[in-house]
Amino acid sequence: MIEFVPVSEKNIFAVRASGKLTDADYQQFLPRLQKLIEDCGPISLMIELVDFQGWEPKAAWDDFRFGMEHDKDFVRIAIVGQKAWQKWMSAIGDAFTLTKIRFFYQNRIQDAWDWLRKGDEDQLSAITSTEELLKEAPDAYRNILVALDFTPHSQKVLARALELVHHYKAKLSLIHAVENTFYPDLGNDLAMYDPAEFVELDQKRHDRAVMLLDKLARELDYPDVQHEVIWGGPNSAILSYAEAQKADLIVVGSHGKHGIARLLGSTAAAVVHNARCDVMVVRLPDQ
Ligand code: AMP
Repeated sequence: MIEFVPVSEKNIFAVRASGKLTDADYQQFLPRLQKLIEDCGPISLMIELVDFQGWEPKAAWDDFRFGMEHDKDFVRIAIVGQKAWQKWMSAIGDAFTLTKIRFFYQNRIQDAWDWLRKGDEDQLSAITSTEELLKEAPDAYRNILVALDFTPHSQKVLARALELVHHYKAKLSLIHAVENTFYPDLGNDLAMYDPAEFVELDQKRHDRAVMLLDKLARELDYPDVQHEVIWGGPNSAILSYAEAQKADLIVVGSHGKHGIARLLGSTAAAVVHNARCDVMVVRLPDQ
């Protein structure tokens, strides 16, 4: 059975568990515990095990599930018992939850109380550091650069970026890089191919990209948008444009390929490693 023990400490409660715990015990105990959490916020709990013989399977599940669902609702849990296996159970609970759980042997119950009272410090230090963090909050993004490769998934990259652009009311830059087609220098042997054809083809790709970006920018109907098609490889194009335009956030997609590129995608990896501003990588389905 589980019974509450009266305690006159703020946000610290105590229960005594004895015998083999059943589902019925939990059906009585958990709603009361839930109510305490709702009324008081995060609480600390002293659990005293007296002639404790474990759980029936369903009760063990009740215990585990409640613990997982309310991980953030407990500051500290002290378990006071007599047996080594109870100590091990406490250590396992501690490892699997955010709550600090510690076991004390019965003859050290006073230490358990002292330790529970220090729970306030945990909360205090969490609050202090949150305040510190807020003070350190970085400036809002003012100039967001989105690199688009015009693959079908680039819509997702753009959609993600737009959320931020609207949120920060930032300037939006859309860019696409067009790389010159590589063709080997075969000297004067023009019988095989004419380099001018490649140049013409590249120019067509460039023109088409200009047309697409132009259309996209108009359709976005956002007051502060600029767009540019840049000659060159995407990595250097994105990085140098970001630098020149003082972008404070670059948004790229990532398909994931191989090596480190498997995690980020090759362009994304290059941008993350070399950009001097923040980079947001939008995960796209593998190609
Ligand atoms: P990757 O996984 O290396 O193919 O990189 C994909 C992401 O890099 C795309 O979602 C774009 O954000 C960016 N990217 C790749 N190619 C270009 C390009 N030609 N122009 C602009 N951005 C590009």
